[in-house]
Amino acid sequence: MWALRGLRNGVVTTRWPSRPDPYAVEVPGPATVLDAHPAADGGALEALCPTGAITRAQEPSGNGSVRLDQGKCVLCGRCLAARPDVFGWSTGPAGAAVHRSGLVVPELSESPERLAELQDRLGAKTAALRRSVHLRHVDAGSDGTEEWEILALANPIYDLHRLGIFFTASPRHADILLATGAGARGMTEPLQRTYDAMPEPKIVIAVGTDAVSGGLATPSYAVTGGIGDTVPVDVWLPGSPPTPFSILHALLLAIGRMPASSSALGHSKGAQR
Ligand code: SF4
Repeated sequence: MWALRGLRNGVVTTRWPSRPDPYAVEVPGPATVLDAHPAADGGALEALCPTGAITRAQEPSGNGSVRLDQGKCVLCGRCLAARPDVFGWSTGPAGAAVHRSGLVVPELSESPERLAELQDRLGAKTAALRRSVHLRHVDAGSDGTEEWEILALANPIYDLHRLGIFFTASPRHADILLATGAGARGMTEPLQRTYDAMPEPKIVIAVGTDAVSGGLATPSYAVTGGIGDTVPVDVWLPGSPPTPFSILHALLLAIGRMPASSSALGHSKGAQR
């Protein structure tokens, strides 16, 4: 029965990123800014966001540019519902960045030298890992959504193993730490100990908006506001939750198989006009 079903379905595994996959670009990512210079609104735009992701530069005219930190966006959709002329959804899986400020749209001007330095540092760490990589996942206070997406990486559609990437149960065998959750204080020590137990070179990916900034759980007595204060993060991946394609992109970015420039995948996360 299962053999017949398999024959009937054929190969379902995506070829992404070596070949385009329409589904990879269809699923919306965090909110983005469509119009960075709307008319003055007396602070109404900032008030739309429950996580403080939206800010507006203070300018004497009162018409400062709008910025949106995708690292704080929990995809609630309030800003799009209220101001579809100013905000929209980003598209494509390439939402991860090698520096935290790279998640802000319109993009903050990061100097090419600084970007090159970050990429070189990451490349030097990962030069030995390109063929076979092992992941250790730690849930540091997640709501469980990121775990479903990470789990999906092992199914026949995404088939993480085709890229030479595997999960391991032991941090001593792990090259990459996938950390999810808002940084529950009770998980600070286990997260730190997992990181310490990993051999060099080791990479940390903050998976999801909660891991990047704490999301809705911040500020709180119970969380540290993301995992960045506990372990050094190499790749920041927003999303609530990020899609399996986004997680794949972050992994390939971390091990140097994907350019840091999101435009390489047609990703749209900046201002459109
Ligand atoms: S969609 Fe994101 S940016 Fe917009 S209001 Fe919700 S959390 Fe804030």
